[in-house]
Amino acid sequence: MGLGAAAVGDALRGAVRGSGVRVRFAPSPTGFLHLGGLRTALYNYIFAKKHQGSFILRLEDTDQSRVVPGAAEGIEDMLEWAGIPPEESPRRGGPAAPYQQSQRLSLYREAAELLLEKGAAYRCFCTPQRLELLKKEALRNRQTPRYDNRCRHLSPKQVAEKVSQGADSVMRFRLEENSEPFCDLIHGWSKHVVASIEGDPVILKSDGFPTYHLANVVDDHVMGISHVLRGAEWLISTSKHLLLYRAFGWDPPQFGHLPLLLNKDGSKLSKRQGDIFVEQLAQDGWLPEALLDIMTNCGSGFADNRMGRTLKELIEEFNVSRIERHSALLDLEKLSEFNRWRNQRGGVAPASMHFLVGC
Ligand code: GLU
Repeated sequence: MGLGAAAVGDALRGAVRGSGVRVRFAPSPTGFLHLGGLRTALYNYIFAKKHQGSFILRLEDTDQSRVVPGAAEGIEDMLEWAGIPPEESPRRGGPAAPYQQSQRLSLYREAAELLLEKGAAYRCFCTPQRLELLKKEALRNRQTPRYDNRCRHLSPKQVAEKVSQGADSVMRFRLEENSEPFCDLIHGWSKHVVASIEGDPVILKSDGFPTYHLANVVDDHVMGISHVLRGAEWLISTSKHLLLYRAFGWDPPQFGHLPLLLNKDGSKLSKRQGDIFVEQLAQDGWLPEALLDIMTNCGSGFADNRMGRTLKELIEEFNVSRIERHSALLDLEKLSEFNRWRNQRGGVAPASMHFLVGC
């Protein structure tokens, strides 16, 4: 079920508001949950519980061509298996439902129209052929391809003419030059003058689907997200997101970008590596507690690295200011040691109770 017109209006005015902590894990269901994703979810969960807040699962499935059947269900199943279930999610529902972006399209369209009215967005009629030519030319000149913002300068009359001719269009966000610095909870002060490196980004495609940036910002706002804790690969997008918040006239959440999770040798975790998928690890008999150990022992955010902590202890010991900027190195060889340790201690709670006891 999607959102009705009244709900869209309410949502854009900020339906879910409050002073409490609300964080979200927002994966794209383009594959199954891997350890990198589980770690992002875990830190969000711990942060929420530490501050008596809510942990939300939102599925970012607007790029329908990349959606993998069954991935959405798999992600939620694995969060439950790991003992870090969301309070609000596609399956559980909640005050900001629906929690699946493909069911919120009317909201993004309305938001894009709002930006259009404010003059912060414009219709772009450039054809794929023109964009391809721009790209080729840039590459020939050894430059990074970027849109040249041509349609920014169309007059209202020209736009009306093109619309009446039935020309296809997308909506682009007008990037302002004056990006403001922001204080990231982990990386400190940061700023990227996006307009000097990128052309105006598409926010709404011709098929009515939003791109990541628009949908992400709109949802974080209307879902009342107070803190965005996500992977460091999104740090450079944040200045763009802050320009969107400013254009809408909304207060942004606080951002914290978690260091990347890498293999022990410093290489990127590859989705071709079978041993990083949570479902596979669960099927192979690893305990969720052992995964918890491996993730919190290679990362930071705690006073020390220790085996066998309960989730309750992790929540007590966690401090976001202890998260370090450098990447976390995952030592999968330690998994059997952690698993053995947990098994020997026995007393492993049944799956449905993992870690929930006492939290
Ligand atoms: N859908 C994005 C991802 O899969 C979300 C990034 C974010 O948390 O803002 O990484």
